[in-house]
Amino acid sequence: MLGSVASQEQALLQRLPPSHREGAFPRSLLAPSERIVFETKPRLVGFVGVPLLVSVIWSMIWGGAFLATFNVANWGGEVAAIVIVIAPVWCWPLLRLRNWRGSAYALTDVRVVRRSGSGGSQLQDARYDLVQQVQSDGTTIRFRIARIAGVGAAYHGGGLLGDQVVWKDVEFAAQVQVFAQAFIALYAQKIRDDQILQALRLRATANKVTCAYCHSLVDLAVLPAQRFKCPNCSAPILPPG
Ligand SMILES: [Zn+2]
Repeated sequence: MLGSVASQEQALLQRLPPSHREGAFPRSLLAPSERIVFETKPRLVGFVGVPLLVSVIWSMIWGGAFLATFNVANWGGEVAAIVIVIAPVWCWPLLRLRNWRGSAYALTDVRVVRRSGSGGSQLQDARYDLVQQVQSDGTTIRFRIARIAGVGAAYHGGGLLGDQVVWKDVEFAAQVQVFAQAFIALYAQKIRDDQILQALRLRATANKVTCAYCHSLVDLAVLPAQRFKCPNCSAPILPPG
C-alpha cells in the first residue's frame, strides 16, 4: 500500500505523451532533488511559421518588383535599396526562432514549469497543490491556479504574479492534458499528505501517534494509505487545528 504513489506513477508513465523530449528542459533550473517526469519543447512551426511565411511573401513581392525595374546603370543603389526593404522583415522570424530556442516545458514531481523569453530568460512555475484545472484547446495548455491568500504562480525574472501557467504550441496537446491532469492529481495528493505527515510527526513518538478515540498507537508510515483514518477504529487522525 505504501508504494501506491510510485506504482500509480509507473502506470501513468505507460501513457507518456509522444511529444515527450528527453533532455528538453535544462536541469540547472531545477532544485537538486527535483525530478522531471514529462518535458517537451513547443512546435517550431507554431513559433516561426507565420513570420517566416510573411517574410518570404514580402521578399518575393519586392524581389519581383526589383527585377522587373532593374536599372543596370545604377546597380549599387538599387541593390542597397532592396536590402533595406527586405532585411528588416527577416528580424521577425529570427527573433521568434530565438524565443523558440529558449522555450521548454516540464512536469516535475512537485510543479509545472515553463521556460520562455529571449534566451530562456523567464521561468514560470506552479506547485501541484495550487493547480486547480488543466485546460487544452488542441494546441495550448493552461494550468489554472487557485487563488489562496494571494499565492499565485511565480514569474522568476519578471517579478509578476499570474493565475495560470500557459504552454503554447504543444504537440499532442490533448494527450498531454489528460496525462498532466492525472499526474497533477496524484502528486497534489502526495504534497497534501506530506504536509499532514509533517505536522503529525511533531507530536509523534518513535514515528507513532496515539488515536484520540481508541488510544491505540498508529504508525505514521501507514496513514496516507489509510487516508488518515485509525486502522483500529476508523476515527480520523489529523493534526489539531
Ligand atoms: Zn482509533
